[in-house]
Amino acid sequence: MTAIVEFDGVEKTFNAGTPKAFTAIRDVDFAIEDKPGSGEFIAIVGPSGCGKSTILNLIQGFADVYPPTRGEVRVRGEIVRGPGSDRGMIFQKYSSFPHRTVLANVRFGLEINQRALGMSPSEMDDRASDLIRRVGLAGHEGKYPHQLSGGQQQRVAIARTLVLRPRIILMDEPFSALDEPTRYEMQRLITELWHDEEATVFLVTHSLTEALYLGDRVWVMTRAPGRIGRCFDHYAPTRGEDPLTSQDQPAFREAVAAVAEAFRELESAQ
Ligand code: ADP
Repeated sequence: MTAIVEFDGVEKTFNAGTPKAFTAIRDVDFAIEDKPGSGEFIAIVGPSGCGKSTILNLIQGFADVYPPTRGEVRVRGEIVRGPGSDRGMIFQKYSSFPHRTVLANVRFGLEINQRALGMSPSEMDDRASDLIRRVGLAGHEGKYPHQLSGGQQQRVAIARTLVLRPRIILMDEPFSALDEPTRYEMQRLITELWHDEEATVFLVTHSLTEALYLGDRVWVMTRAPGRIGRCFDHYAPTRGEDPLTSQDQPAFREAVAAVAEAFRELESAQ
C-alpha cells in the first residue's frame, strides 16, 4: 500500500552554504499508511527549535522551507513540490480574514477552488453552513472575527480547513493561545470532528497531555538537528471521552510520565 505521507532520509538545513547555516532536522524517516475509513492522528512533541514545524511545513510544501536539503517528502507516492488542497494547515494564530463574516470566511476556500470543485453557490453555502454547525458556531454565520472569542475564532479556522475535505490536516500549536478551559473544549471538538473526517492528522504541540489525549501515536523528537527519537503508540484513550475525565485516569497519567521521561532524556542527550 502506498503511504499517505512518507519521509525518506529527510534533512533540512536553512541558509545552507552560509555562516548562518542551521540544520533543523536530519534523518527523519517515517511512512504513514492511509488507513481507509479511519486515518491516523500523529502528535509531535520535542524541545523548542527541534524542527517540529519544519516537518509540517515540508508536508505542506511551503516555499520558504521546501525543498528538503536531502531526502524525499512524498504524499501518496508523489514528491511534494508545493501546497495543495489535499493538505490543510491550522495555525496557532487565527488565520481568518477580518473583513469577512464567519460564513464568508468558511466559504472562501470553496470559492477559490470553485471551478475544480464544480459547486454551485448554493452548494457552497450548504457545505460552509454544515461545517459551521459542526464546529458549534451555528447562529454566528453573520459575525465578523473581532466579534468572536479566541476559541470561536479557532473554530472558524478549523471549519475553513475542513470545508475543503483535506486528506491530510496539519496543526501547528493550534490551541496554545487559548486559556485552559477553552483548550479542553477544543480538544473535545477535535476528537468529535476527526472521528468523521477520516483524515491523517499531524499535530505539533508542547502539551504532553494534549499529545497523548489526541494522538494515536506520539513522536518525541531529539534536539536539533531533530529526528524522531521515540514513538509511543500504546496508549489508546477512549475516543469521545471527556478530556478531563480521560486525563485523570491512572493509565493516562502513567503514559504522560513515560513520555515526559523520554522527552527529558532526548533533550539532555548530546
Ligand atoms: P520547532 O517547531 O520545533 O520549535 P522549527 O521547525 O520552527 O522548530 O525550527 C527549527 C529551527 O529552524 C529553528 O532554529 C528555526 O529558527 C529554524 N528555522 C525555521 N524556519 C526557518 C527559515 N525559514 N529560515 C531560517 N531558519 C529557520
